[in-house]
Amino acid sequence: MTLSGEELRALLARLEGRGYKAYQEIKGRYELGWFTLLIDRVQPDPYAPPSRLRVRLPMARAGLPPDLYANRVRRLALEDFLLRSFWGALGRSSRGGPGEGYLRVERPSQAVLERSAVMVGPEAVEVRLWAGLPARGRSILGRVAAKLLLEELPRVVEEGLLYANLDARALARQVDLIEDVEAIRAALPERGLVAFVGDGSILPRRSGVDDRPLSAEEAVPFQAPPSLRVAFSVPHGGQVTGLGIPRGITLVVGGGYHGKSTLLRALEVGVYPHIPGDGREYVVTLPSAVKIRAEDGRYISAVDISNFMADLPSGDDTREFSTLNASGSTSQAANIVEALEAGAELLLVDEDTSATNFMIRDARMQRLVSREREPITPFLDRVQDLKRAGVSSILVLGGSGDYFDVADCVLMMESYRPQEVTAQAREVARALPTGRKGEERHPYTPPRVRAPLPWPGGGGEGGEERIKVRASGQLQIGRAESDLSAVAQLVEEGQLRAVGEAVGILLSWADGRRTVRELLAELEAKLEERGLDYLSPYPRGDLARPRRFEIAAALNRLRGLRFRPVR
Ligand code: ADP
Ligand code: MG
Repeated sequence: MTLSGEELRALLARLEGRGYKAYQEIKGRYELGWFTLLIDRVQPDPYAPPSRLRVRLPMARAGLPPDLYANRVRRLALEDFLLRSFWGALGRSSRGGPGEGYLRVERPSQAVLERSAVMVGPEAVEVRLWAGLPARGRSILGRVAAKLLLEELPRVVEEGLLYANLDARALARQVDLIEDVEAIRAALPERGLVAFVGDGSILPRRSGVDDRPLSAEEAVPFQAPPSLRVAFSVPHGGQVTGLGIPRGITLVVGGGYHGKSTLLRALEVGVYPHIPGDGREYVVTLPSAVKIRAEDGRYISAVDISNFMADLPSGDDTREFSTLNASGSTSQAANIVEALEAGAELLLVDEDTSATNFMIRDARMQRLVSREREPITPFLDRVQDLKRAGVSSILVLGGSGDYFDVADCVLMMESYRPQEVTAQAREVARALPTGRKGEERHPYTPPRVRAPLPWPGGGGEGGEERIKVRASGQLQIGRAESDLSAVAQLVEEGQLRAVGEAVGILLSWADGRRTVRELLAELEAKLEERGLDYLSPYPRGDLARPRRFEIAAALNRLRGLRFRPVR
């Protein structure tokens, strides 16, 4: 049944002063003249999670030029823009205590992601939001609620969504930019590149807790070294020049505090486009790039780390290695193998977050501690095998020159300015041989493929597990935990929520036969076809699209989930 705005007003007036539970009566659908309001769920009391609403604005009303959503990339950029403008319009009306109620929408990060908060469809723009319905104590404040839903909300919809009220130039700029960036991303492979960093980019952030760019006075803009400068012609921006990082093995060297980690961080999040003004708009990384780090303490189940580890003192078989409490080196090895299993084609490694004994073992250490007593084959001795298997690496390494022997490209950061020093590094490698011996116990063998075993709780989709996320990056599925706090390429809490739901679904599919890769591919196909709503039985506005790598990361870290090698 559909009611009018006036009927909603009358209903709320009737509820004035009644017990909070009576708010349940407003659940339903309302035609507010020029848009539709759906009240999907009403909170049971003032302190419960807020009520869930949807606004549906017909496209004819929104007045958005079709050119802004002519393809998927443009539509996502438009949706992101509308969410930000809606959020901005709400912000100006921020309210006080429970006596006034409030409206809220998911807050976006600097990245442009597919989200469930705003969706542009052929017929309507849909916005999903929350309302804290006003009360005094536990009594309904119906007239205040009417103001919130019938005055405040229409004002925000008008200001935040109607094309006539938007900054049309900024909107076109964002949509065009994202399309340009995705054109560069799509062209990377044919140019033999794994990443691009545009000239003039501002990579450093204001602080560890503020992701906005460092101010123009303080930041040194990025400038590509001439020998590695490439140019892309993009559909809207003409020519964009910058650093092209070639396929293969790239080292980023340089003194401490010269901007190495800042560059790598930009490449990590460069798998996502960013909004105009972020400073990293033209930092574009292969979509299959995965940050690799040591993560001691993590859970591992049946991962084939035998290319990196063998003959452990515990006697464990490293072809199917499991632990409740990984060491730095075994966790880093497992992180690599799991990334490859999910389809990674570029590994991003920073010395700051690596296990030293996993990265290097120098000649003197080889002399003192014989190879028989060292289970680890360091990454140095496998990075070229990975390259031959089609997997590139970008390594930040200020501390070890042993990698000069295997590097295809060496970048030196000097006062935040990159120089190419590949030839000099080769010269150094010739003049000062390391004297170390390769420590491979056997030729590189593609890691064994795994399948998750059935999950006792049954999982999501039909299963009964409760899925919860915490801002710190913890996911809880039933009673089991998956700790994603070290997974660097989750940039919004909405992604973490979506990862949680995705894992719930994968658990319901797990049968001990279908491999991780097959399960991820199937889920991804569903997400392509049905969008984020596939992840939830009811419409919710707090999801953002994660990559397959982060979904895999959550599955792999779920304590108690067991895997079995299938070949
Ligand atoms: P490294 O990894 O080489 O030790 P970092 O990347 O951690 O160095 O950078 C050190 C400091 O310099 C950080 O505070 C960072 O924000 C700042 N920084 C990095 N790049 C720039 C830049 N282009 N302009 C100004 N400051 C920068
Ligand atoms: Mg560093």
